[in-house]
Amino acid sequence: MIREILHFPDPRLKQPGAAVKNMTADLVQLVDDMALTMYDAPGVGLAAVQIGIPQRIIVIDVNHEEPGKHLLKLINPVIIAREGEIIWEEGCLSVIDYTAEVKRAAKVEVKAWTPDEKEITLQAEDLLAVALQHEIDHLDGKLFIDRISRLKRELYSRRVKKLLREGRPLEARKGPPAI
Ligand SMILES: [Zn+2]
Repeated sequence: MIREILHFPDPRLKQPGAAVKNMTADLVQLVDDMALTMYDAPGVGLAAVQIGIPQRIIVIDVNHEEPGKHLLKLINPVIIAREGEIIWEEGCLSVIDYTAEVKRAAKVEVKAWTPDEKEITLQAEDLLAVALQHEIDHLDGKLFIDRISRLKRELYSRRVKKLLREGRPLEARKGPPAI
């Protein structure tokens, strides 16, 4: 089932996710729904917090040419090492019609659990490293616009609030898939 993605300024996006203690059948279903929702959007990543479920679960697939083949379903992901710096033009499924350059670690090592409760460690660089950092931020109640200048964030926030006040629907952004 495709779930509804929350959009800024929905306050639920600021609510940090709680660690998953055990994988129930409902959570396995939730992870599958998250993957469907991500491909449908389309986006390269989705965090449970973005569909209003405050749990530490993310899905990522940076290769949409072969959907499903490189799909990552990560439970309680934690960054255990970072290296270097990279500037990436980021967008987000929860931040309509906006992209901005964000500074991230160029390489990360992430520890997580799979839905069948295996512990894994991933090494990532480029878009995958950016997507992991972006999604784990969501689990901490943070959006990429919290990592840009206050002025830029205010301008974006004002634009969105004006659209909402006028009752105009927020249009999905065009361009490359959002994270
Ligand atoms: Zn996002």
